[in-house]
Amino acid sequence: MMDPCLYTFIDKLEAEHTLYASEWQQLLDGYTPRLAAYLFEKSRRARIQFYGHDVYIRGLIEFTNYCRNNCYYCGIRSGNTHVHRYRLTKEEILSCCETGYELGFRTFVLQGGEDPYYTTARLSDVVHTIRTTYPDCAITLSTGEATKEEYQQLFDAGANRFLLRHETYNTEHYQKLHPAQLSAAHRQQCLWDLKEIGYQVGTGFMVGSPWQTSEHLAEDLLFLKELNPQMVGIGPFIPHHDTPFAGQKAGTLELTLFLLGLIRLMLPGVLLPATTALGTIAENGRELGILSGANVVMPNLSPKRVRGDYLLYDNKISTDAEAAECRRELEQHMQSIGYQVVTARGDSLNITP
Ligand code: SAH
Repeated sequence: MMDPCLYTFIDKLEAEHTLYASEWQQLLDGYTPRLAAYLFEKSRRARIQFYGHDVYIRGLIEFTNYCRNNCYYCGIRSGNTHVHRYRLTKEEILSCCETGYELGFRTFVLQGGEDPYYTTARLSDVVHTIRTTYPDCAITLSTGEATKEEYQQLFDAGANRFLLRHETYNTEHYQKLHPAQLSAAHRQQCLWDLKEIGYQVGTGFMVGSPWQTSEHLAEDLLFLKELNPQMVGIGPFIPHHDTPFAGQKAGTLELTLFLLGLIRLMLPGVLLPATTALGTIAENGRELGILSGANVVMPNLSPKRVRGDYLLYDNKISTDAEAAECRRELEQHMQSIGYQVVTARGDSLNITP
């Protein structure tokens, strides 16, 4: 029989939306399938209370795989000489948006490595054109670290949202995943800057990254509570064969789902994607994510010819949103578990006080 106080922690989380570090840690260490089932019942309820059975979709445009950084886990790190590098032109990005708009996407997510070609001026120009062509759409950027002035320029050009996972809150752990030029403190500062500028901010972390402990995860959850972002993206770490972490173990489906449930109860109005990495480690990973409290999926709108080159980790799936058929397939998957894909901007209900 497991510790009954863990159930009490979940009740407390549901009522008060916060826990102490030691309580988070005990919950994570005390994981059992029964405890998870108890959590998911509540996290689903919270999700339905805020977002009903709607699933928001975001059109993901992976517009460049050039990157100046050399993060140890990432397949497109600068040190990986086996990557076929590409970048989409402005016209190609716009054509992705056009396809996406016709398919019902009202949020475009421009994600890429930190590509020196895409200076703030060039990226602002792309953003500005998307903004004027699709005034009813949200534009999300996920282009890594920059100065506050650069973020401000992009915001002024028309970007509304920014995704920048903090990856791990703990400084020492961060240092084990990144080269010395990168720091947890700077990454976190970027998030505060983005927030101050007025972006809807998304952050998050990898689950089961090398050397991660439940203590680290407790720190991640406390940081999420403090930052109070509009979106939280988490997914399992998955090794990539051409990185220093090639031989490391992947994060698990179970722990990722458990964390999705916990985050839903902590920040009930937050946007929570069932990520590509989750869909990669298990065939029905995204459906299970939705059933644990997630409410967003991000199908790929990048041109087919570059999809195989944006390989952050091995076996990455690319949900094909290009053909209307595939959008229907996604709809069917969601319907099969009682949810529906909607055509909407899908703004966050986690409003910062
Ligand atoms: N350059 C951008 C986008 C990074 S890619 C930035 O710095 O934010 C988006 C996310 O993919 C990363 O934040 C990281 O959390 C995740 N990722 C990278 N490599 C991964 C891996 N091997 N397994 C799982 N997720 C990974």
